[in-house]
Amino acid sequence: MDRNKLIRALSDEPQKQWDIIVIGGGATGLGIALDAVTRGYKTILLEQSDFAKGTSSRSTKLVHGGVRYMAQGDILLVIEALHERGLMLKNAPHLTANQEFVIPVYTYWDVFLYTVGLKFYDLLAGRLSMGKSYFINKKRAVQRLPLLKAEGLKGGIVYHDGQFDDARMAVALATASIEKGGTVLNYFRAGTLLKDEKGKITGVLARDLVSEKEYNIRGKLVINAAGVFADEIHRMDNPESKPTIRPSQGVHIVLDNSFLQSSSAIMIPKTDDGRVLFAIPWYGKVVAGTTDTPLDTVTLEPRALNQEIEFILKTAGKYLTRQPKREDVNCIFAGLRPLAANPDNPEATKEVSRRHKITLSRSGLLSIIGGKWTSYRRMAEETIDRAIKSGTIEKRKCVTRNFSFYSNGNLPRSERLRIYGSNAFQIEDLIREHPELEELIHAKLPYTKAEIVWICRNEMPVTLEDMLARRTRALILDARASAEAGPAVAALMAKELGFSKSWEENQISKYNDLIEIYT
Ligand SMILES: Cc1cc2nc3c(=O)[nH]c(=O)nc-3n(C[C@H](O)[C@H](O)[C@H](O)COP(=O)(O)OP(=O)(O)OC[C@H]3O[C@@H](n4cnc5c(N)ncnc54)[C@H](O)[C@@H]3O)c2cc1C
Repeated sequence: MDRNKLIRALSDEPQKQWDIIVIGGGATGLGIALDAVTRGYKTILLEQSDFAKGTSSRSTKLVHGGVRYMAQGDILLVIEALHERGLMLKNAPHLTANQEFVIPVYTYWDVFLYTVGLKFYDLLAGRLSMGKSYFINKKRAVQRLPLLKAEGLKGGIVYHDGQFDDARMAVALATASIEKGGTVLNYFRAGTLLKDEKGKITGVLARDLVSEKEYNIRGKLVINAAGVFADEIHRMDNPESKPTIRPSQGVHIVLDNSFLQSSSAIMIPKTDDGRVLFAIPWYGKVVAGTTDTPLDTVTLEPRALNQEIEFILKTAGKYLTRQPKREDVNCIFAGLRPLAANPDNPEATKEVSRRHKITLSRSGLLSIIGGKWTSYRRMAEETIDRAIKSGTIEKRKCVTRNFSFYSNGNLPRSERLRIYGSNAFQIEDLIREHPELEELIHAKLPYTKAEIVWICRNEMPVTLEDMLARRTRALILDARASAEAGPAVAALMAKELGFSKSWEENQISKYNDLIEIYT
């Protein structure tokens, strides 16, 4: 991934006619770009910030069918997601894992309800099941989850789902698209839709936010995959368009593993106010959440409300022997669900479906909204199929079902470097050549200086935040430690990317301002 090289190629061919221009570099847009590139379409993707800066780095990090959607009766959505879960675990084994969950049960009715419900979940997964669900008695439940409150407990239901690293999966999608010949650019904002005299969309006027240069990018088809910002793109197309997104905020907190001390996750299917709450081990910490707060405005940097944080802490304390307090929280992160609203009744938020919606405007803007990370591949396939059906692009078959993100079967020596897939060997080589790069960026963070150097050379980070929040997950694992590591990481980045001392200082200061939102 070489941003400058991709932009040079763009400048060298200003008249180039792309088959597909994708707006938005989250799960949805990146999935579409990879689908399109691998079908052989000339594809460019524009992301206004960093890849997965929006919702796609702020998920619960589950590759799941959605036990809750099953309870809501959305069986088709669950079947589709369970199938995609199986494909994602097969195609990206280095970024996904089989995670065991335990649902603590406190009444015999719940024992019956969740045992039967999860057997049905297993059945829906079919061949792609990740392990059978079963009931365990109180003694075994407490053995598995030593810090679970035992009072009143009847036992637990064990089941399996997938877990992943959302931001790194986004980078894997971007890398794969570029390797297959696509152009995928971060910090490139689509500002205006270009139209011909008949009002048909012919491209996008976009700005490189690093150089502030503008580019006329011409293409047969523009796809709006802007997540919670999709309505902004709709309004670029038609200022009168009705809202289609109902944003809903979900907050997570990250705690030290001493609050769970287990490799099993806890799933509370119904909290006091009817929400689902997870406490999941992730990179040696515990991610707990989430909430569901309808919002009227959208931003790239949403902020958790006090009552959301208190709700998660209070609920976790109801089930765990040790009550986590505000000062125990390593990081707080908020994400916005791009729920597909009813355009005639945008205020209706009650159980808006997690299913995605694809629409085509009169001027030819193809939009996809809603959906979930787990289903990104299927959503991409449907979007491109819809474009083919509209006659904009010629027919070609989708090939992503068996697209492997992990070309080399050998595992790196270090289990922790597994997340870099086949490239882990390059990081190990770098450490062999420069042993000083084995040093950690911070005593409380698992990342070495070698990873920072390798990422600079291969994964298109533009800012210190890109490095600490999404290429590594330092921000999420421990926000304060990541800020302390900031100066050393900025210095390494400046050296690798050829930036000045003032760039370093500016990045550190911006990062320190950002940390406030996450602490
Ligand atoms: C709290 C929470 C928990 C979740 N947990 C899970 C989970 O565990 N598993 C799961 O499968 N799903 C989960 N989801 C859902 C999943 O995260 C989302 O469905 C998915 O990330 C949405 O991706 P997206 O690409 O549509 O949106 P985004 O990730 O928001 O991407 C849209 C991108 O478009 C860019 N953009 C906007 N306007 C422009 C422009 N003019 N020019 C260029 N770029 C632009 C934005 O910068 C943004 O990066 C969760 C969602 C939330 C909120």
